[in-house]
Amino acid sequence: RILSGLLAVAMVFSLTACSGIMEPKKNDGKKTVGIAMPTKTLERWNRDGAYLKKKFEDAGYNVELTYSDNKIDQQVKDIESLIADDVNLLLVATIDGESMTQVLRDAKDMGIPVIAYDRLIRESDAIDYYVSFDNYKVGQMQGQFVIDKFGLDLKDKSKSYNIEFTAGDPADNNATYFFNGAYDTLKPYLDAGILKVPSKQTKFDQVATKAWDTATAMTRFQNILGSNYSKGKQLDAVVCSNDATALGVLQAIDSDYAGDNKVLLTGQDADEANLAKIVDGKQTMTIYKTSANEAEVAIDVGKAILNGEKPDADLIKKANWDFSCKYDTKTYDNGKKVVPSYLLTPVVVTKDNLQKELIDTGYYKLDKKGYPK
Ligand code: BGC
Repeated sequence: RILSGLLAVAMVFSLTACSGIMEPKKNDGKKTVGIAMPTKTLERWNRDGAYLKKKFEDAGYNVELTYSDNKIDQQVKDIESLIADDVNLLLVATIDGESMTQVLRDAKDMGIPVIAYDRLIRESDAIDYYVSFDNYKVGQMQGQFVIDKFGLDLKDKSKSYNIEFTAGDPADNNATYFFNGAYDTLKPYLDAGILKVPSKQTKFDQVATKAWDTATAMTRFQNILGSNYSKGKQLDAVVCSNDATALGVLQAIDSDYAGDNKVLLTGQDADEANLAKIVDGKQTMTIYKTSANEAEVAIDVGKAILNGEKPDADLIKKANWDFSCKYDTKTYDNGKKVVPSYLLTPVVVTKDNLQKELIDTGYYKLDKKGYPK
């Protein structure tokens, strides 16, 4: 009898595993979503994680949320634990775009669908969908901002500007998209000599910042200032791929730049520390990627998968979004598979439209000092 009992359990297990729908481990009848976020040290992932958790729970799912301290091995272990806990769906914002192949193969073997969240996971055929912003466009918007702010004109070479670049983590698939978007947009002006890069650091590998770390960005920029701007050369702009790196560059400018002009500084994420710098006129812009919208799309895609439906464009359009949001459905080749992707459109935020884009929309409130929180 024991043997036939075991056989019955094994049959049920193999049936559910084959159908790709695993029964949740918890006995409350709810399905479980495993969410793997990279780190708590970068502000945005706290927002994303908290929002995703709350919204999936509100929709009737259990949620297991992990943060892996920006350590690749840790994230692999965290995902292994989520798989061992029989989650029904995995949502992964990966630390390293190429190190997840084996653990995600395990997820696939267990019939667990995977959504790559914000960062594309490369070299894996286990990715079912990718939800993000149009990352190349983020860079394009930063580059275009510089062009518009300085009023650059390819026909007018009477004035030139000194510009530097700071990019993100080479392990993050997004980082090259941001950098290339900005660089490609500015290239005609660099080629024409209207924009000059005194440090000559114009290749992604030269300007990248491991782990998007603020202190690393600061040290590199102090060196750039010391080597290229110490003799009174004016620095006009720094294209920083995101806010964490912009903060480091700003610290270097505060401590090591002798010029008294305002340096045009770009960013991305609308981190609170950077919004305060925008209010104070020290950072010029940030690209706001509404995490709430990104999470909302991921949740709709996730729910569709869990209901055994195909989350195509129509289904997403029909979904019950309480915000208006532009997005594009595209596909990305991750090296092993063409991954259907939902890419949202970001917005530029400056001191002038901060109230309209961030406060009036309810994403942030102003504290007593007038800083967005
Ligand atoms: C995200 C950015 C973020 C960066 C560092 C990127 O993958 O798209 O929004 O600034 O990671 O956390």
